[in-house]
Amino acid sequence: MEENIEKDARDLSIETRAFIGGRFVDAIDLDTIKKVSPIDSNPIPSIASCKSQDIANAVEISQKAFESKVWLGTTPHFKKECLLRLASLMEKYHKELALLDTLETGRTFKNYYNDSIPKAITTAQYFAEAIDKYYDHSIPPRANACATITKEALGVVGLITPWNDPLVVAMWKMVPALLMGNSVVLKPAEQSTYSILKVAKLAQQAGIPDGVLNVVPGYGEIAGKSLALHQDVRGIFFTGSSEIGKKILTYAGESNMKKVGLECGGKSPFIVTKHCKNIERAAQVLAKNVFYNQGQICSAPSRAIIDIDIKDQFIDHLQKETRKYVPANPFNINSEVGCVVSKEQKEKILAYIEKSKTSAKSVFVPNLMRDPIPGGQYILPTIIEIDDPRDTIAQEEIFGPVLAILSSSSSEEALAISNDSKYGLAASIWSDDINEAYYFSRNLQAGIVHINSYGDDDNTVPFGGIKESGIGKDKSIFAFDEYSYTKTTWISFDQHV
Ligand code: ADP
Repeated sequence: MEENIEKDARDLSIETRAFIGGRFVDAIDLDTIKKVSPIDSNPIPSIASCKSQDIANAVEISQKAFESKVWLGTTPHFKKECLLRLASLMEKYHKELALLDTLETGRTFKNYYNDSIPKAITTAQYFAEAIDKYYDHSIPPRANACATITKEALGVVGLITPWNDPLVVAMWKMVPALLMGNSVVLKPAEQSTYSILKVAKLAQQAGIPDGVLNVVPGYGEIAGKSLALHQDVRGIFFTGSSEIGKKILTYAGESNMKKVGLECGGKSPFIVTKHCKNIERAAQVLAKNVFYNQGQICSAPSRAIIDIDIKDQFIDHLQKETRKYVPANPFNINSEVGCVVSKEQKEKILAYIEKSKTSAKSVFVPNLMRDPIPGGQYILPTIIEIDDPRDTIAQEEIFGPVLAILSSSSSEEALAISNDSKYGLAASIWSDDINEAYYFSRNLQAGIVHINSYGDDDNTVPFGGIKESGIGKDKSIFAFDEYSYTKTTWISFDQHV
């Protein structure tokens, strides 16, 4: 099985050019970005390296498509049917999409096939089914007047997406943006470009008119920056690091004050109080969520704050659970965890681990390393116990399989430690005292709070943070508001009605 999956991936015919105006095209200067797979450092196909001229071209074509109303002017029902057809085509190519993402990012085929690609497909289905149930408003502010409050398309929107869950995040943004009538220019991460190029072609087959959806591969600081600075782009929606999220805000300010949506980093707290009855279950859920995908998840609960009375018992359970998340060959159908996305990423994570050793009370790494494939970027899950909540390891987003553990002696202290962070993406509170759990939920500075759970997810609920974790929301019916602006139309009548 393992050999076959890997062979299937290597045998794929992979599209690597930009998709602009319904055609695959090379970058104008024919430049490409050379790539290796993080699984084994072997070369994989290079992608087009778009520059400002390619971006300008894509935006111009996208703008023409928007102005022609070839898509904007269609009914919600028509748009819904197109996106449902796209979902069906993605189902048909489910395995191929999972293989492409595995090859490029080193996350496991099992994750992509069972979790990520199905989520990307149901995202299209959810939003498609929602669009013709999404109403505008009207009110009669005077006896002789009526006002409508409508949601209008922005125009050309730029989407900049990350590599850690490539298609899910792309679909979270692209589908509601399209359904609101916008035209889209999407810049995928240079580490994960193959699958979205395949999806762009499938979208064309599904009936989305040429020019309405464009994909421009390239480097962030070249292609992404150029897209975010473009005068004719009316909204820029980004998922990635807080550092680049801040730059996106600047680009919007330096250009045309375009609408901005940002889903950025996190250092999400996982709090277990002495009123938690099922410590073993809490440890299981923590290990699964912090070590899944080698910790490369913005909402990973990478800071555990455990009541001092139960800490030793909790850590015992956690260490046992951690053994399940030792990296293995991403193409093996049984592997839960593959490798990190690149050599640079691996070096950055290892440097954090090394630095933490000077201040750590204890460092736990399961004694099980088998380097699954020589030359690959694999890291063992690592638990670092520290005293100081301001320690680098408890403050900075590492984006790797590294968990910082702190202790607390009261709810107030646990809450203060949790909120002492520049981030505010997600949080989790484990307590069987409903008063205590609710106190945390209302006072935690986070966009998403889980009580006695973590990572549970559904298309119906918004996802996004506060503070330096971002602005705006992905998912749920509220996502339509992100990709539109609100217009008031005041209608006066000659006489009272
Ligand atoms: P990570 O650190 O997880 O790779 P980044 O924030 O660097 O996250 O990247 C997320 C996305 O932002 C990618 O598509 C990347 O190419 C893009 N990007 C990186 N730098 C810039 C930039 N200066 N301007 C616009 N986009 C960028």
